[in-house]
Amino acid sequence: MNSSLRIALGLAAAGVPVLPLRAGKVPFGNCPDCARNACGGRPNMKTPGPCVCPRPCHGWAAAASTAYVINSDVWVSTWRHAAAVGYHPGGAGVTVVDLDDPAAIQWARETLAATRTVTTTRGEHWIYRGTMPSANAVRPGVDIKSLMAYARWLGPGVGVTAALPGSVRALAVKERPAARRAPQTLPVPLSGQRGQCPHRTPSYLDRGIAMAEQRITAARSAVHATVYRTFLAVLSTHGRCGCLTEAHTARLFTAAQAKGESPRHCTDAWTNALTTLGL
Ligand SMILES: [Zn+2]
Ligand SMILES: [Zn+2]
Repeated sequence: MNSSLRIALGLAAAGVPVLPLRAGKVPFGNCPDCARNACGGRPNMKTPGPCVCPRPCHGWAAAASTAYVINSDVWVSTWRHAAAVGYHPGGAGVTVVDLDDPAAIQWARETLAATRTVTTTRGEHWIYRGTMPSANAVRPGVDIKSLMAYARWLGPGVGVTAALPGSVRALAVKERPAARRAPQTLPVPLSGQRGQCPHRTPSYLDRGIAMAEQRITAARSAVHATVYRTFLAVLSTHGRCGCLTEAHTARLFTAAQAKGESPRHCTDAWTNALTTLGL
């Protein structure tokens, strides 16, 4: 077994969705069956479609966390050519702040909450618990890799993983003065908890729910675990400020039930996620 595959299986066992990366630290391209999107694409926000290709040929959307898939013949033949192991941070419930150079690291040390850090070729990855939309070049030398993105796995790093701070979320927000001033109340708070709403616009919340629905819908295996992890990700991002409504919950439950989960399992998974997050 080659070392990339061994590392990948270890990560998957910990619930981290992995994918092989080729030289240049990028995912393998579409396979011949999927070239030019002939397959209709892998279900996700960018390329909605029906692809059930068994190969790791759709970038982050192909990241898998089951040994059955990762160790399958078609994946193993790809691992043989892999130069590195990638993972989908959003699928693992984390956000990577990718600091590309010493200036970016210096900025992070002065600005961001301390957390687990991983040394990279030129800089550092700062890993936070919680997910958010990914964004490139939010500052000079700083990318954010979380939902719908992949990052290179370079080991567990050092330090204790901190909760994703509002200051990191704010980095990915485009300044839109008119929208910021608009009222953004949503009815029926999820819980009695109130506080500074970190969401700026209802569309941010809506996008998060839509991505969660897609992620559940796209699950080809481990539906149970995917549903729970998705609920956890939604609640860690949107569960504290009272913006999440029954309608949002209903959308997630509907997506899960379309994949065969019982209403009872949905409720249990939701409750467990709330408990895990101390909500
Ligand atoms: Zn394919
Ligand atoms: Zn495909």
